[in-house]
Amino acid sequence: MKIAIIGGGIGGLSAALHLLNAGFDVQVYEQAPRIGEIGAGIQISPNASRLLIRLGLKPAMDKVGVRPQAVHQRRWDDGRTLQRAPVGLEVETAFGAPYYHFHRGDLAELLGAAVPAERVHCSHRLVDLEPKGERVIARFENGASVKADLVVGADGIHSRVRHLLFGPEKPRFTGCVAWRGLVPVERIRHLDIEIASHNWMGPDGHFVHYWVAGGQFMNVVCIAEHGTWTSESWTSRGEVADALARYEGWHPSVRTLIAAFPETFIWALHDRLPLPCWSDGRVTLLGDACHPMLPFMAQGAAQSIEDGAALASLLKAMPDDVSAALRRYEEIRKPRATRLQEASANNRKRFHLPDGPEQQARDEAMATSGDRSIANIGWLYGHDASVVA
Ligand SMILES: Cc1cc2nc3c(=O)[nH]c(=O)nc-3n(C[C@H](O)[C@H](O)[C@H](O)COP(=O)(O)OP(=O)(O)OC[C@H]3O[C@@H](n4cnc5c(N)ncnc54)[C@H](O)[C@@H]3O)c2cc1C
Repeated sequence: MKIAIIGGGIGGLSAALHLLNAGFDVQVYEQAPRIGEIGAGIQISPNASRLLIRLGLKPAMDKVGVRPQAVHQRRWDDGRTLQRAPVGLEVETAFGAPYYHFHRGDLAELLGAAVPAERVHCSHRLVDLEPKGERVIARFENGASVKADLVVGADGIHSRVRHLLFGPEKPRFTGCVAWRGLVPVERIRHLDIEIASHNWMGPDGHFVHYWVAGGQFMNVVCIAEHGTWTSESWTSRGEVADALARYEGWHPSVRTLIAAFPETFIWALHDRLPLPCWSDGRVTLLGDACHPMLPFMAQGAAQSIEDGAALASLLKAMPDDVSAALRRYEEIRKPRATRLQEASANNRKRFHLPDGPEQQARDEAMATSGDRSIANIGWLYGHDASVVA
């Protein structure tokens, strides 16, 4: 079976690896002139890392990844930790795979290096799809066209494939903006910050930071409500002074981290409502193309990795009935992805509560119930997407 994957992001590349492993003839078509991610950090939880490890990527992941010890939920003003949930050895032991923090560029590079170069076609922007019986012709802006038995749209939140399948419908601006910065370790060594993910929650915003690139940089993301910036781009420059002004009154460590930004980029957070279905004929979707979500569960890329693993297992199990495999793919994947889209949207409310009774109830619940305890997080981290029986 010839499979054309549109999009060489984290979802497309990892799907290519899973499908190649399952014995299919896979080609990846990416619009950019080269494979690589810009932007800053990305968290990869055990539900996704176990799938990448199975592809033989552990040595490369260990080389560039950081293994955090914990996730701290903290107060915006006094810095108090409301909950410290383990994600180190306890999580690795419980779920059989580690939690990693990566620089996006490092993760994209290691995925890209694992796909045979002759199977990756850069500078190929998909413009059209034409069904031809049991096959589909994909046409590209550069004039090239290919025929495939299956086309997989892994082309992100603005997916052209989704548009061609289900018509025009734009992603929604959520009203949240994110300033991002990568702070070199030399600038903040004196803060002695634990190798952990730190999530500071405050009125109308939260603030996340964790080490990446083998501990050389602190990835910092400042998420604020009521943004007016609406462009999504990893390369749109913002002003450090604007971010500092927005975090006026927050804990000194938060402000020290922002002030240490060598530069900052601003990103408008968009999402979409869950789609009724993901496939049509011999074309399907994965990752942000079908279930973009706010990054407040740190699961968008992880879910795209799960999609590719599930799709490969199903096609391998039913190579003679692609339609049945795609139906099953949706049946299995959609409820989980939808749950995470909803949980991410819900975390926006939880993380941004103004100080008051609701916030006090949230803090109390975090301190006592431990909503990120091993027992409570098993449904997420313990899942093995390649098991599709
Ligand atoms: C601030 C922020 C923090 C995040 N943190 C996390 C995190 O910690 N953990 C996590 O799991 N997720 C996180 N996410 C979500 C994650 O980044 C996305 O869910 C993930 O990148 C989606 O991968 P994808 O491959 O589906 O899409 P993309 O990464 O968008 O890749 C799509 C690819 O398709 C290409 N493309 C687009 N159109 C075409 C076309 N017409 N023809 C050919 N190629 C095309 C693009 O160039 C791109 O390379 C975060 C997101 C944001 C914004």
